Amino acid sequence: MNLLEIKNLTVRYERQTAVENVSFSLKEGDYAAIVGENGSGKSTLVKTLVGLIPASEGEVQMHGMTPREIGYLPQSTIVQKDFPASVTEVVLTGCLADGGFHPFYSKKQKALAKEMMELLGVTPFAKKSFRELSGGQQQRVLLARALCATKKLLILDEPASVLDPVVTHELYGILRKLNRERGITILMVSHDIHCALEQAKTILHMDKTLKFCGSVEDYANTPEYRRMIGDCITTDDMLHVHHHHHHHNHAACKEEEGSAQ
Ligand code: ADP
Ligand code: MG
Repeated sequence: MNLLEIKNLTVRYERQTAVENVSFSLKEGDYAAIVGENGSGKSTLVKTLVGLIPASEGEVQMHGMTPREIGYLPQSTIVQKDFPASVTEVVLTGCLADGGFHPFYSKKQKALAKEMMELLGVTPFAKKSFRELSGGQQQRVLLARALCATKKLLILDEPASVLDPVVTHELYGILRKLNRERGITILMVSHDIHCALEQAKTILHMDKTLKFCGSVEDYANTPEYRRMIGDCITTDDMLHVHHHHHHHNHAACKEEEGSAQ
């Protein structure tokens, strides 16, 4: 069954089109990764899916759920640095998670929060301030929060971008388990092409339009994939001969760079 159907979706900002004529559907139980260069419209696409940005054209259809029932983990740098995110955007994000940092009202919600905190191993920090936590701990807390909003669909925008390789590995393990054992459908934006291919069943390659949508196996035969991998090899090679050309430091290679240091 399709959980999500996106039909001819176009999203424009005042001065430019960020997402153009994108169509795809997401099946229940799928684990899909959205990949693509910086500025290719990945975040805009997921923000439109969760209802934070209106569609300019086309439509987003949900089956058996509403946008409020999506568990959403926003791109954390945006929230933390507060740069392009408006207060409304941040507040809306909290509303989507049905509670956020406010007290939980019903017994049922309290129990759910407790269950998710246990699941993600953050119960020991229950009384600590969120700001005191490490990046990895914060991401797990935010994931617990997103899980309180949904039993069906998690949308994550570069959940590992602020994490070191060990914590990244741990987070991906949690996501796989949620997908396999709890049947939660996952749509994850990822800069890290290797992790995306390892984790996901379906790949969506964005470059304003949707350049590819299909299985991981089929993606491996596309020019988009070869270009992504080509970039990584270049960066790797450069690191090995100790030439640091920072304009080639694509975040897709973050983990390799980290472990090479
Ligand atoms: P990605 O997540 O793939 O890096 P984004 O969806 O964030 O890409 O951005 C796509 C394009 O839209 C970029 O050119 C970006 O500069 C622009 N953009 C993103 N957010 C806004 C905004 N709030 N207002 C205007 N332009 C934006
Ligand atoms: Mg983004």
